Amino acid sequence: MLPVRSAHGALPPAAPAPQSCRRHTPAIRRIHMKSVKALLGVVLALLVGVAGALLGPAPAFGAAPARAELSAPPQIPAENIMRHLRQFQAIADRNGGNRAHGRPGYRASVDYVKSQLDAAGFRTSLQPFSYRGATGWNLIADWPSGDPNQVVFLGAHLDGVPAGPGINDNASGSAAVLETALTVARTNLKTQKRLRFGWWGAEELGLIGSRYYTGNLPAAERSKIKAYLNFDMVGAKNTRTWGVYNDDPNLRRMFENHFRSKGVQTRPMNIGGRSDHASFKNIGVPVSGIASGNDPCYHARCDTINNVGANVVATSTNAAAHGAWTLAGTAGSRLPGRELRLAS
Ligand SMILES: [Zn+2]
Repeated sequence: MLPVRSAHGALPPAAPAPQSCRRHTPAIRRIHMKSVKALLGVVLALLVGVAGALLGPAPAFGAAPARAELSAPPQIPAENIMRHLRQFQAIADRNGGNRAHGRPGYRASVDYVKSQLDAAGFRTSLQPFSYRGATGWNLIADWPSGDPNQVVFLGAHLDGVPAGPGINDNASGSAAVLETALTVARTNLKTQKRLRFGWWGAEELGLIGSRYYTGNLPAAERSKIKAYLNFDMVGAKNTRTWGVYNDDPNLRRMFENHFRSKGVQTRPMNIGGRSDHASFKNIGVPVSGIASGNDPCYHARCDTINNVGANVVATSTNAAAHGAWTLAGTAGSRLPGRELRLAS
């Protein structure tokens, strides 16, 4: 994450959402309207004895789905995420103590995440870019299920600052997104929308990687992205209250309702242009994200594995998974009643 006073002041202001994006009403409302329709559909199907309708193909966007129920992700154990964080710490230790843009620890971080995703069956791609005389990379992974014209995107920056290993900022978000993706693969998740995951380079130098990615997306590809969720600094130990980006109200409520159901306190958070969600907001994509509490080792040498709390990063990762499952629309088990109230 960028500091409060930084290059972000020089970033272009958020462009107003193009009409084509406004017309796509927020993804959550759609999903929950679908849930209501789906439940009505079940009642009807039972009444007329057409249970076979439930087995139909995934519906076109906006149509009442044949599937009646949405599933929740499995609980992701803290150890799954800590395993990645220990790898990022080891990568920094082997590469001069950091994972910064243009340094070998960054490329080693990319290679680690990519190898995990490739082994799990993702379609991955590396997008190189050049900044300050060094090559950086964005890593993008698509889960091959659901409608490729409706993309739900989760992302995190993978680079750190030169001062330290960058474990809370932002191995934590990188690991949260990675473990969410691996859980998608492990459960062989069937989604209605396409799930895409991104790890951005050179965020700490001014959102360079994510701006490069969005800036090079053709207009037709931009409009396919229905939501972007950002995970930057999600593991600070001693966190009591989670910040929820207040950019898109429906996405914010989705996170708030999730945390409330877990008894976790939240606060609305306006982080402006200080992380990669801004690159997506600037092209008209509805965005939100979460962050953990105060980090005494922000951009410092002490941002090591000892700077994160296992339970904190697990809470964040389970919120990320909740977002992925909810927004992408998954079949299997019942959507919690609490979520249905979002439809109002
Ligand atoms: Zn940072």
